[in-house]
Amino acid sequence: MIIIGGGIGGLSGALALARQGLAVRVYEQAPAFGEVGAGLQLAPNCTRILDHYGLLDEARARGVLPQNIVMKDAVSAEELTRLDLSDLQDRYGYPYLVIHRSDLHAILLAACARAGVDLVTDAPCTAYENTDTGARVRFGDGRTDEAELVVAADGLHSVARAALIDDEPVNSAYVAYRAAVPFETVAGNDIHGKDVVVHVGPRCHLVQYPLRGGEMFNQVAVFESPKALAGEADWGTPDELDAAFAETCAPVRQGLELMWRDRWWRMYDREPITTWVSGRIALLGDAAHPPLQYMAQGAIMAIEDGWVLGEHVAAQHARRTAHGSGVDWEKALAAYEAVRPEHCRRVVETARTWGELWHLEGDRRLRRNAVLRDRDIHDYAFIDWIYGPTALTPEEEPEMFRPIPLDSVAL
Ligand SMILES: Cc1cc2nc3c(=O)[nH]c(=O)nc-3n(C[C@H](O)[C@H](O)[C@H](O)COP(=O)(O)OP(=O)(O)OC[C@H]3O[C@@H](n4cnc5c(N)ncnc54)[C@H](O)[C@@H]3O)c2cc1C
Repeated sequence: MIIIGGGIGGLSGALALARQGLAVRVYEQAPAFGEVGAGLQLAPNCTRILDHYGLLDEARARGVLPQNIVMKDAVSAEELTRLDLSDLQDRYGYPYLVIHRSDLHAILLAACARAGVDLVTDAPCTAYENTDTGARVRFGDGRTDEAELVVAADGLHSVARAALIDDEPVNSAYVAYRAAVPFETVAGNDIHGKDVVVHVGPRCHLVQYPLRGGEMFNQVAVFESPKALAGEADWGTPDELDAAFAETCAPVRQGLELMWRDRWWRMYDREPITTWVSGRIALLGDAAHPPLQYMAQGAIMAIEDGWVLGEHVAAQHARRTAHGSGVDWEKALAAYEAVRPEHCRRVVETARTWGELWHLEGDRRLRRNAVLRDRDIHDYAFIDWIYGPTALTPEEEPEMFRPIPLDSVAL
């Protein structure tokens, strides 16, 4: 099996297939495998799968189990609602974990190496085609390789996706700045050292949480760029960052001073699609369903994709023959495509709405605050559909929540 892309999605997909006894090779375009040095939130629908792979203890040892997720108004600093994460762990059976991206990536890379995955760098894939027995990939230097299955985990700008559908990333005009800094740097600031805190403000927000057993502190500052809205090419610059947060409370502005200012990430997603498979070429991770990051489910969905594919391979894995793996790929891929696109559509669309809710201003901000303040902190009606066990079939996919119309709230 060939996997294109050695990000969190590609590596977890490779591990899922290698665990089924398949021979797997990962091709990564970069000269080395790696991830950006910032934080990642892993909800119980992900830690459940890491446990299944035998990787949860290591992830827990390298990460932090925060006590709460607290949502605050970024202007008034008022607490709006919270999730008690020990209660959450009791409910779903698995913890909510925050981890350095490069630590999770390293855990997956080492697990792939142990499982015998062939890991190849410096290999930008430029073309895909189906063959009579599987699929073939071509690389920038003219090399080719082929296998029974090619999984394209090549991210937001996927080459494979372009062969399936003629679409483009959707520009949200929002920008993310990141920072992962030694904890001492923030110790004097007004922070919660053991919680994930989301400060939601008009057209901006700041997320903060500890990393690496509390040795580091992670921050993500996100805002709408006026230059992006005006169609200017040079958008998301640090002057825009400072202006976007000018009206926020002192603890938020203190946090801003620590953001990395030499690079930033422009926030794109794509319209959900239902076709992820063409013959023996299958999309996985951001290549299939890049979300806006407001649900903190992008990497998790990629890990779920790999797990679901692996489970369906196990169900269709008859007997290894001299000529192949013995997997009924048509059935395994059909089962994968029957369940994952709809779940990921829900997440991608909910992430858009969740982001809009975070960034409200005026009356609608006040109504949102009233809804959040009213929420019983042990009410999981809005969360069960996402943190419960990952569905393997459409029938297992849980009901969605019912949104509360903001207009129904009196001020
Ligand atoms: C600010 C921010 C915060 C986020 N927070 C969270 C969070 O808390 N929790 C969460 O679950 N998600 C989060 N996400 C989303 C998450 O980062 C992504 O959804 C996830 O990393 C996608 O993984 P992937 O492997 O599918 O794609 P990518 O990470 O994009 O990896 C693609 C890999 O493929 C390689 N590649 C690309 N093209 C080729 C090619 N042609 N040939 C060979 N290799 C190729 C790339 O070099 C890369 O290594 C966040 C995103 C952002 C921007």
